[in-house]
Amino acid sequence: QVIVSGVKKSFEDNLVLRDVSLSLQSGDVVAILGPSGSGKSTFLRCLDYLERADAGTLQLGNDVYDLHDASNKQILEVRRRTGFVFQNYNLFINKTALKNVMEPLVCAHRVPKEDAERIAKEALDKVGLSDRYDYYPSQLSGGQQQRVSIARAIAVKPEVIFFDEPTSALDPELIGEVLSVMKNLANQGITMIVVTHEMRFARNVATHVVFMEGGVIVEEGSPEQIFEHPQQSRTRQFLQQIA
Ligand code: ATP
Ligand code: MG
Repeated sequence: QVIVSGVKKSFEDNLVLRDVSLSLQSGDVVAILGPSGSGKSTFLRCLDYLERADAGTLQLGNDVYDLHDASNKQILEVRRRTGFVFQNYNLFINKTALKNVMEPLVCAHRVPKEDAERIAKEALDKVGLSDRYDYYPSQLSGGQQQRVSIARAIAVKPEVIFFDEPTSALDPELIGEVLSVMKNLANQGITMIVVTHEMRFARNVATHVVFMEGGVIVEEGSPEQIFEHPQQSRTRQFLQQIA
């Protein structure tokens, strides 16, 4: 169970998140849609303390973390219990795929090296990269690099994984392989919050769709509610524009 409550964030006098709350059951896949600048990335980044919120809490299981005021220990704890997949993969360029996936296991989770290697290989197998353990990021396609980054996120068995436009940097022909890996994760019951412009993913894979604009959630519901019966005119306009 993941409950986000009352997230607020300004940059100087730019109010980016007004009061965003979101609640997920285990296994939920939430797709966050919205126009550029609506605060989607800032929202996700606040949940992992990559940005410091002005207010808000994140509840993981029975533990509540203050997103504004937290100790380093609490921040590390949240990062250990969550995963983050970035648009631009954020891999270590001087480490192989295997070492990239092992890194958080060994460094943040203190898993012994041999176990970490076995777990990392399993994670790479899951994303279809069993023949690429020893490749460096520069020797991999964008889609493969993003799959390494997903393997790195799932290897530590986080309670929720945040994805910020995981396919936006990819050539169109590479998007499908990453989405299909994410669909597999969803089918395995991994809890995810995904900022995306991929409407097919939102429609077919997400259990819940959120439309965000101007730092607030304008509308949320099942994919069917949002795509077939949007209640808000802003949601309808947005969906028409991108259709
Ligand atoms: P996109 O779809 O283009 O990725 P987004 O919904 O993810 O957009 P954000 O990146 O969250 O939008 O940005 C929301 C607002 O916050 C924008 O006005 C942006 O300029 C501002 N912003 C984001 N990060 C910072 C920062 N580090 N410093 C100052 N302003 C920022
Ligand atoms: Mg963004």
